[in-house]
Amino acid sequence: MAELRITKLPNIYNREIAYITLYEESDIRQLALYDALILDYTDATGCLKLLRQCRSSFIGSIYLIPIFIYSIEKNIDPKVESMSDGIISSLQVEGIITKIDKLKSRQANLTTVDSDTPDIRIMTKIMRYLYTREIKLQPIVDPHSSLGYSYPILSEHYNNGNISDMFRLTDDLINREFFKPKFVDRLHLCSNCYSSFINYRETCPKCGSGDLVTENLIHHFVCAYVGPEHDFHSGDYLVCPKCNRMLRHIGVDYDKPSLVYTCRNCLNTFQEPNMEAFCFSCQKHNPVETLIDKQIYSFELTPIGEETALHGFGKEIKEELDLPGFITFTTFNIFLKYEIERAKNNNRLSSAGSLILSLADADRHKLGVGYSKLVTEIADFMKNATTSTDILSFINNNTFLIISPDSEPARLHNVLENIRQSLLKLLLSSLPNIHINLIIKAIPISGYKSHNEIIGELIML
Ligand SMILES: [Zn+2]
Ligand SMILES: [Zn+2]
Ligand SMILES: [Zn+2]
Repeated sequence: MAELRITKLPNIYNREIAYITLYEESDIRQLALYDALILDYTDATGCLKLLRQCRSSFIGSIYLIPIFIYSIEKNIDPKVESMSDGIISSLQVEGIITKIDKLKSRQANLTTVDSDTPDIRIMTKIMRYLYTREIKLQPIVDPHSSLGYSYPILSEHYNNGNISDMFRLTDDLINREFFKPKFVDRLHLCSNCYSSFINYRETCPKCGSGDLVTENLIHHFVCAYVGPEHDFHSGDYLVCPKCNRMLRHIGVDYDKPSLVYTCRNCLNTFQEPNMEAFCFSCQKHNPVETLIDKQIYSFELTPIGEETALHGFGKEIKEELDLPGFITFTTFNIFLKYEIERAKNNNRLSSAGSLILSLADADRHKLGVGYSKLVTEIADFMKNATTSTDILSFINNNTFLIISPDSEPARLHNVLENIRQSLLKLLLSSLPNIHINLIIKAIPISGYKSHNEIIGELIML
């Protein structure tokens, strides 16, 4: 079997860095042994192929491996660039060592997870890639994709015409609030195959033919006659067929209010043609109103997304219950960011806190549907025990979050402690056989901690 041509780059950092110059079909698992790869771009096709192989793997140590592209020319395929960790024009390890170390240390934070379904595997993988790189998932314009855009790495799993599955996955990531979408473009896609390689054309409403000729309609102001332009032709002049007057100045004597179509197939004349969208990918004739209207977004990992990237879906934060007076986690984050800004600018102190319900799986099981009722009761209790300026959210099916503006952490801690004591009494009398632990936290919202860090502290058990 042929082999990749690999040169180990000597360095004083104790890192195994492979410089690959010749691409042959080979087992890429051997690459997991290295700390980073540098791919030579002289053979651009071979380079892209190996890069794709690595990034579409499901083995963490392969798809997450730092990969740099070595090229002295500037013209790099955007796809190659988007899947790499940078383009370098020198083989000096010094230039990339900091980045390699950073990626490695973020990678070390990831815990091993089991992924049961293919969707979860792809989601975990993408989120881990974004987390280790600290980047957004940014679509690139891609004329080779029938969509017109491709997402680095993600699209590698959906290049067999199953684009709708990819959208289902990204919608799912948005709905679970792992991804925060940001508008990039709006597409109109074939309803059959999700291609955006489409020709829009006017067709005859009678026979459906696209073989149409168009002509201006002329409206003669003086006599109000309206007719197709050829009716007005008289030698080099325009003469009104109704009143026989000569038309001289457009805008003064006459105007051209619209077009009239004539079908060369059935000779039908009409003003409102049908619009059709012909798909070059699957040859479907789509009525335009049936095209799929799809937004293309860039995606940013949310704090829940980061948490899930780190620890997998077991700790997934869910918002199953709709509690009155409670806001969604997304809105909660917006308020939190706002409070952080306020703390920075005005030097005011606000606090954030959490109350986490912790109970054994067996007890949770015993409660069954009663659990939702319990959560709703606690939510009611919290709402009554806090002030109207406090902001409340419920996540992860076990965590109440609170922002208490202009309030010291000590005060918030007291409030939460009182709630905790009362709830424990209440639970002891209403559910004597269930052991529920209530964990409370109150921390300051200063200008120094990001909302991610604050949420991280609040949801950690
Ligand atoms: Zn026709
Ligand atoms: Zn006239
Ligand atoms: Zn199509």
